[in-house]
Amino acid sequence: MEIGIPRAMSFYNNYPFYYGFFTDLGIKIVLSDITTKQTMSSGSALVVTETCLPIKVYIGHILNLLDKGVQNIFVPSLQSVAPKVYNCSKIRGLPDLVRNVVKRDFNIIEATLDKSEKNQGLYEFLAEIVKPYGITDPAIIKRASKAGWKCYNNFHIMAKSGMSYKKALNYALQGKVFIENNTKEYPISIALVSHGYNIYDDRTCMKIFDKLENMDVKVYTSLQLSNEQLDDGIASLGNERYWANEYDMTGSAGHYLKDSRIDGIITLTAFGCGPDSLMVERIIRKAKRFNKPLLNLTIDEHTGEAGFITRLEAFVDMLFRKKRANLINKMDIETSEYIPNTNFIETK
Ligand code: SF4
Repeated sequence: MEIGIPRAMSFYNNYPFYYGFFTDLGIKIVLSDITTKQTMSSGSALVVTETCLPIKVYIGHILNLLDKGVQNIFVPSLQSVAPKVYNCSKIRGLPDLVRNVVKRDFNIIEATLDKSEKNQGLYEFLAEIVKPYGITDPAIIKRASKAGWKCYNNFHIMAKSGMSYKKALNYALQGKVFIENNTKEYPISIALVSHGYNIYDDRTCMKIFDKLENMDVKVYTSLQLSNEQLDDGIASLGNERYWANEYDMTGSAGHYLKDSRIDGIITLTAFGCGPDSLMVERIIRKAKRFNKPLLNLTIDEHTGEAGFITRLEAFVDMLFRKKRANLINKMDIETSEYIPNTNFIETK
């Protein structure tokens, strides 16, 4: 029993769960290789130019799994992740999209999660995935689901403690839990606001975490926040949760805009993303109210690394100068002699 999982899209949010779930059922997981230039170009060649980068990358990963000889590939249709909270049409129609563009002989292990509909919740979704493997016993599916949640929760505990995404994922897959105790002090902190598949794929985000670390910048993401904090973040931007990615975008932006430890916000979006164009527009408009600098980076398969670094460096440099100026102003006020207020003159 084998299942191929493309290392793209929902992999970056849900893999710890899938790992625990499939491993408990004795289904061997085959992952596609990490994203390369070849993954991007092979995927881009099969879809229309306007398609967003994450979908192009996803198709490239499907091709990679087929080249490895994998016959059963997991392609979920994640319609709605909570009542009236929807994914974009590309994510919802992913199995159809794959079927229509990848004209090769393989089985799509397809299942639908639609929490806005009756009888299409998580259990039904999981049962649909494992049916082709002849697994139908509800007790076995529930037991595997528990194993999935355990791995998923361990991952989130570690990520919340400030551990890097990769490290937390590695430990969670090994069944270990550690709490990060990083005492390093950073002069600048920024919040990186984006979807998991945009920022945890090293090729797509051009190793943005490493680049910012080299500039002495501490990076926060939505992974360090609880659902309550993310809900509060959405509310503080005067919004309601509608898109499935709203937690990663509006929720974390709303939270970090209010957080005094954060010096600036970077939003990273894929060119051609409909939901992001709406969410980022709202974030930019509201950011002005919080007087926090914001940089919006848009990526596609043609984004050059040199230009990307230049924009990051310019933004970080501006944050350093702003912080230095604030500190100097504060020192000036604290050390200046008493100056009487001559604007107010008492007359007899
Ligand atoms: S949410 Fe945006 S980036 Fe993600 S698949 Fe949909 S259009 Fe593409």
